[in-house]
Amino acid sequence: MGRIWFRQLAQIAGLIALAGTDVEGKAGRRPVDVVLYVEGFAPGPIDLGARQIVNGMYGRLGITLAWHDAPKSDVKPAGAVSIQIRFVSGNPKAASQNALAYALPYADGINAITVMYERIRRIADGKTIFERSLLAHVLAHEIGHVLEGTTLHSESGVMKAQWTGWDYGAMVGGPLDFTREDAAMILRGLAAWKLSAAPANLANKSGSAR
Ligand SMILES: [Zn+2]
Repeated sequence: MGRIWFRQLAQIAGLIALAGTDVEGKAGRRPVDVVLYVEGFAPGPIDLGARQIVNGMYGRLGITLAWHDAPKSDVKPAGAVSIQIRFVSGNPKAASQNALAYALPYADGINAITVMYERIRRIADGKTIFERSLLAHVLAHEIGHVLEGTTLHSESGVMKAQWTGWDYGAMVGGPLDFTREDAAMILRGLAAWKLSAAPANLANKSGSAR
């Protein structure tokens, strides 16, 4: 049901994107909407696979991501939102006990996502495909928080507060959807981020823990 709607949305977003600035500067390539600077790592095959899944999840919304294996530099493509992703070991103070990651939209002037990878690995329990899917969904969820500019959660899908065993099983079979409301908020937020520093509905700067 949601898929058809997303496709329509993606087409509309695609048209808008075509009219925008081509930060890649190359004919025939889609402009980049969000640049992700990754610091630290998950195991290579899992990380790369997860990035592809996240690309697909946002691609359905007509949003193009670009990944860089480096801390955020001062060089930011014009017209793109930049987000820093940090993989950390241990338990940062800002994280709640059960969170796998948390987002701090525009804290200290940057959008930052912290991933506590050991917790993801513990849940995946050596199941590689699940580990890759779970990392992808954790990243997509936190990127969603940054773009939406809120700490709100949905009843289902990518932006659900707490995934159940059923959700875990489903995400291995294929990426979960963003709800229609989340998709709309993400597109609105992205447009706002591009226009200014932060979306108008940015509720607070203290971020969220999943
Ligand atoms: Zn969350």
